[in-house]
Amino acid sequence: MATNTIGVIGAGQMGAGIAQVAAMAGYEVVLQDIEQRFVDRGLGVIRTDLDKGVAKGKVDAALRDGALGRLRGTTDVKVLSSAFLVVEAVVEDPTLKKKVFAAVDPLLGPSAVLATNTSSISITELAAATTRPDRFIGMHFMNPVPRMQLIEVIRGMATSDSTMALVLEVAAKLGKTALQCNDYPGFVSNRVLMPMINEAIFCVEEGVGTPQAIDGIMQLGMNHPMGPLALADLIGLDTCLSIMTVLQQGFGDPKYRPAPLLRKMVRAGRLGRKSGGGFYDYPKG
Ligand code: NAD
Repeated sequence: MATNTIGVIGAGQMGAGIAQVAAMAGYEVVLQDIEQRFVDRGLGVIRTDLDKGVAKGKVDAALRDGALGRLRGTTDVKVLSSAFLVVEAVVEDPTLKKKVFAAVDPLLGPSAVLATNTSSISITELAAATTRPDRFIGMHFMNPVPRMQLIEVIRGMATSDSTMALVLEVAAKLGKTALQCNDYPGFVSNRVLMPMINEAIFCVEEGVGTPQAIDGIMQLGMNHPMGPLALADLIGLDTCLSIMTVLQQGFGDPKYRPAPLLRKMVRAGRLGRKSGGGFYDYPKG
């Protein structure tokens, strides 16, 4: 079934960003979440970002209006049934993701492709929980999606060449650069990035430096655009902990053990920007 509709499941920071770039690229987009307030929050974030773009002269007003017109928010998973591609962006929990795919898989046409924006969970494992492992793939967008160029495209064990070709075509239409890798814990991006963030958290815990000093040293010394702790706050500390757990379990190597301070902060609900505080404070507004 040839349609121009992309479905996005999860209207959080990543799902909203993916929906935004897809609508800006001319696709009809259905953005689904479990509660109307989450859908509204996601649509609100998109509107605000596009309005800011227009105010700064970076986005044409007609493009903003067109993109908003192509976006539809819903809590009803059935509305995704017309999509040729569904990108899942719910929280980083394999059990939840499998549940989400089990609900959407039977609704889709036979040629539709399922993609996951997971940061680290095995694509092969998630694919095996569906009836279409050949039409299942990892599409790992970077945060914030409208500004980051890369999509890390991850091939699961059964991903077909035609699925890869379709996703590369969509990535090009989104104006993104797709780089391919194979399914391995953390893929490339988070296998390299997350141990660095985790080590920075150990540095805080062991009193090696303040968060400001650690971030400053990495920013100025290594020419990183932001320090690892500020980046952890941006990603979400819950997501960081989930990724470290996947690395630890996937490789069975203690070098990937999550810093106890990371666990403690997640337990305390200090999840970073999205909760108003992590290693730094983010007052509302
Ligand atoms: P988030 O917490 O901002 O958003 C998750 C959304 O999923 C929430 O709106 C929640 O209501 C929704 N959700 C939960 N259960 C659902 C269900 N059953 N059906 C539909 N929606 C449901 O999380 P996020 O940061 O957007 O991360 C989403 C995914 O993207 C994760 O797999 C994460 O690892 C990945 N990712 C995150 C980043 C990042 O920097 N945050 C970067 C790349 C990839």
